[in-house]
Amino acid sequence: MASPILNDLFSIPVTPPTDGSPPEGTVETPVVIEDVAAIAFEDLAGFLLPSLYKPTPGREESRCLNLLTLGRKWEIESAVLFAQKTLEGMDLPCVRRLQLARMYSLKVWVPDALRTLLASPLNELGLIQYQELGIGAVMIIVKAKEKLSQYRLKVAHVMPKLNEDPEWSCKTHAKCVVAWKAAWWEHVARHIFHPTSPIAIADIPPFVRNLVVPDLSWNCQYDVMENWVSKEDDIVNAAITALIQYNNSL
Ligand SMILES: [Zn+2]
Repeated sequence: MASPILNDLFSIPVTPPTDGSPPEGTVETPVVIEDVAAIAFEDLAGFLLPSLYKPTPGREESRCLNLLTLGRKWEIESAVLFAQKTLEGMDLPCVRRLQLARMYSLKVWVPDALRTLLASPLNELGLIQYQELGIGAVMIIVKAKEKLSQYRLKVAHVMPKLNEDPEWSCKTHAKCVVAWKAAWWEHVARHIFHPTSPIAIADIPPFVRNLVVPDLSWNCQYDVMENWVSKEDDIVNAAITALIQYNNSL
């Protein structure tokens, strides 16, 4: 049998008790397994004995969660792997994934689901979704969103300076400075502030290099983004770490 624990359970010899009562494991006196719902056991039986399995539309997620729970409880690795792989392939909303990640210790689900959520407007979530996330996760998500927002405002507000090295070789640098300032506010900052499809901070260098800015020399246009570093990933990764640690603490 796939599970050593189930193997032990069903290997107990059926011998009549000496007090005259009927033995366990018969139709009249079935073996009772505590804390396991009948439907969960049926799901596991259907997995271990595919001839018993009857697919029920709309039950695939709960079936997999039952397989995950009992597979872990009774050390049936094939059921655990099957459940994880099937759940992974299902089209679940990121909020549901974060909820399941917390409830079933699926920490590998946290990074992608949280990245997706942090890139989405939180005002589109309803009360049910916030309840699914849980207050601890909501706090981490709201803080990360606020940090991202503040960081983006700061980036837009503080225009990167053109090269100020006296040795910098640009014969039309005074024109470059004026042109760059206008280009930043007209093109880059506007994209950072865009309400529905804002530019990622990490995407600003290629965006700037592809801008057509008369009076800005190519050397200056390229050089101004040379040492550009985005901190957006740092903020998102810190939130991922915080959420995994929070889930582990529950
Ligand atoms: Zn220049």
